[in-house]
Amino acid sequence: MGDDDEVMRVLAACENCQSIYAARQWPDGDIQAIGSDGCDCGSTDFVLVDESDDTSDDGTVGRTNAE
Ligand SMILES: [Zn+2]
Repeated sequence: MGDDDEVMRVLAACENCQSIYAARQWPDGDIQAIGSDGCDCGSTDFVLVDESDDTSDDGTVGRTNAE
């Protein structure tokens, strides 16, 4: 049962100084840093950080010489 309107835990980067914070993304797309109103630099604008795991294509398929 997947609630579509659940708050997601994300990583967010400060738009001003690029500091990374743990944050929540609300269903409406709003991003809010966890535990603080904003960044140390005073900015409250955050952008979502893509948690892209570097899973490269492993196209190394061993040839099976079965006959
Ligand atoms: Zn900042």
